[in-house]
Amino acid sequence: MSETTQTRLLIIGPPGAGKGTQAARIAERYGVPAISTGDIFRANIKGQTELGLQVQAIIKAGELVPDSLTNEIVRDRLHQDDAAGGFLLDGYPRNVEQVHALDGMLEGDSLDAVVLLKADTDEVVARLMKRAEIEGREDDTEEVIRHRQDIYAEQTAPLIELFTERGILVSVDGLGAIDEVADRIASALDAQLAK
Ligand code: ADP
Repeated sequence: MSETTQTRLLIIGPPGAGKGTQAARIAERYGVPAISTGDIFRANIKGQTELGLQVQAIIKAGELVPDSLTNEIVRDRLHQDDAAGGFLLDGYPRNVEQVHALDGMLEGDSLDAVVLLKADTDEVVARLMKRAEIEGREDDTEEVIRHRQDIYAEQTAPLIELFTERGILVSVDGLGAIDEVADRIASALDAQLAK
């Protein structure tokens, strides 16, 4: 994975900020696959695979899947052909250990840009409660939603400073219509990638 033509992106933000929706837009714009660890886990739970059975209870409780397992899944996914020209990660890395694991996988080719999708806690909790009614995700109960927010604050939010220090963080307000937010991300990312 050393070609310079790769576009390696990450979208980060609290649960409920709209990362999945915006990830699809970004992936289309830059012609890379959107890789969501949450989606991979949910597909495995649905298909009742060995991995699915291993992670089901953890995800339902809003805990993080162990790093060893998560890192292996991402390593495999990044080696698939469609990721040869780059990728957009969504939901990974989620803690400092996972950042180090990803650094190792990229063998010195670091991420080109990290989009931070900002949204305040009251807004994201409200959005997730609404999504719970529509999608019925098992981890969208109020208690688990709050737990996921706490884990984000403790383990994932510190990565913002780390990526800021690396000079690759672009911060975007996640509040507003989907198209509006997508336009904001596109201009911020274009500017960062042109650097
Ligand atoms: P959200 O960010 O809205 O909570 P995700 O789909 O990103 O939703 O993640 C859902 C769940 O999947 C997480 O709460 C966690 O249990 C598990 N998960 C996803 N990505 C990771 C990761 N990188 N490390 C550990 N667990 C993860």
